[in-house]
Amino acid sequence: MQQALGKQDITILADRGYDDSTSFKTVHQAGVTAIVPKIRTSANRKKGLFTKEDFVYNKEKDVYECPAGKDIPFSFVSTDKGKPLRAYMSVMTCKGCTMKSRCTTSPAVRRIRRLDDEEHVERVAQAYKNMPNAMILRHRSVEHPFGTIKQWAGTQQLLTRTLKHVKTEVSLQVLAYNFKRMMNIMGVSGLISAMKT
Ligand code: SF4
Repeated sequence: MQQALGKQDITILADRGYDDSTSFKTVHQAGVTAIVPKIRTSANRKKGLFTKEDFVYNKEKDVYECPAGKDIPFSFVSTDKGKPLRAYMSVMTCKGCTMKSRCTTSPAVRRIRRLDDEEHVERVAQAYKNMPNAMILRHRSVEHPFGTIKQWAGTQQLLTRTLKHVKTEVSLQVLAYNFKRMMNIMGVSGLISAMKT
């Protein structure tokens, strides 16, 4: 991507639903900043309980700092869809906590789960916090071409099949969109002279 754009410092914006820790890791390893809002589906939030966002991960100590200011230590590893999932919990710490009714419906303990590559999810969340208008920008930049190209394609949508051919077809549609857009903005003669220079 950097090579195609001739730029190393790249930020990508994606819509809700494209949040996946493995993809984030790949993007970060390529030196790209990703901004993706999270879908908030926490059952605890609906119940009015503390959510995971109320717990702060401390990498040095490998603990979660809970809303009561206690350190919740690492306890065990399980797997979720083949990915290692670390559990943080402490029966002793939660025992007798005055905030327990706001924290968990479990009689014993609050458990926090953490993916192995969750630091990439946190990095994306922080990038989104640093750029709160990111989704407005994404909407303004992407929805216009997307809607226009879909309108041009009509009900047929795509004429080709298989990823390779669909990629080619979509690339041609995008190229046509870009030319039309430049002609609208610069005029035909303006575009021709810009291309000559
Ligand atoms: S119940 Fe446990 S995790 Fe929750 S606030 Fe109290 S000590 Fe912290």
